[in-house]
Amino acid sequence: MQVQNGQCGLCEHFGESHAKTDVLVSIITSKQAEPTTLDQCGHPKHAALHLKVTAISGCDGFVAVAAA
Ligand code: SF4
Repeated sequence: MQVQNGQCGLCEHFGESHAKTDVLVSIITSKQAEPTTLDQCGHPKHAALHLKVTAISGCDGFVAVAAA
């Protein structure tokens, strides 16, 4: 699926609690993700809740990830 600017797959907080995996780098470079791709949101307001989101989820805490 296409990942748009503003969605989790392109957010700095998507999977930020661990090293960038090949899957995360691939989402950033291709702006495509499997609909089943899930990772933890590291936003300070969500991290304690261990929120897991898909690459096409989103929220107002979005911060654009630096280019891979
Ligand atoms: S839920 Fe919000 S803060 Fe967390 S990864 Fe998605 S857009 Fe970023």
